[in-house]
Amino acid sequence: MSNVLLIEDDAVIRDSLTRALRDRGHAVASAAAALDGLRLAVEERPDLVVLDLGLPDLDGLDLLRMLRAVSRIPVIVATARDGEAEMVRLLDAGADDYVVKPFTAAQLDARIRAVLRRAGAGRADGAVTVGALRVDARTREASLDGAPLDLSPKEFDLLHYLASRPGEVVTKRELLTHVWQIPYGGADKTVDVHLSWLRRKLGETSAAPRYLHTVRGVGVRLAAPA
Ligand code: CA
Repeated sequence: MSNVLLIEDDAVIRDSLTRALRDRGHAVASAAAALDGLRLAVEERPDLVVLDLGLPDLDGLDLLRMLRAVSRIPVIVATARDGEAEMVRLLDAGADDYVVKPFTAAQLDARIRAVLRRAGAGRADGAVTVGALRVDARTREASLDGAPLDLSPKEFDLLHYLASRPGEVVTKRELLTHVWQIPYGGADKTVDVHLSWLRRKLGETSAAPRYLHTVRGVGVRLAAPA
């Protein structure tokens, strides 16, 4: 089962697609406007977003670019236009795939499953490698430049969570939810302290980052050194 976020302003389409996708085994959340959708995408971290391009408050492509700035969640765009120019425009903006209106729930479901298969194939089950950093969830071992890192269980969980989303900005809220299992409340300071410990073990500082990059006011991003 996958968690799908549907961003669609037309209530009739939204309700019928929600029902149809649920019937096909997906958990579906929905938003009727772009900014609500963006907020849900960041907070709820669905497996995939289905995005209608024609939204009342913001152009769907602008929303896609905003989403891409903070997340690599797979996005399937629903567009009214067909043709190569439109396809290029959507893929350039960061869409993983698209469906042309009118489309059936069966078509959309097939696209969803294909995109999720591709996304899953890119993510190794066991070890994650980012640059010279290697994190193995099965053995709970991490190494940098081939040298083992001596991490506490929480530091390991934190590093694994970030390394599984290379290049993606992860919020402190998200880390509290998924690494500390504190979905509400909790202190940013907890995250800050563990990040600083992790930095020290990776041999870097926030002033001179190599892998862990603070995104002020938003969170942190793990990426291989350029
Ligand atoms: Ca629309």
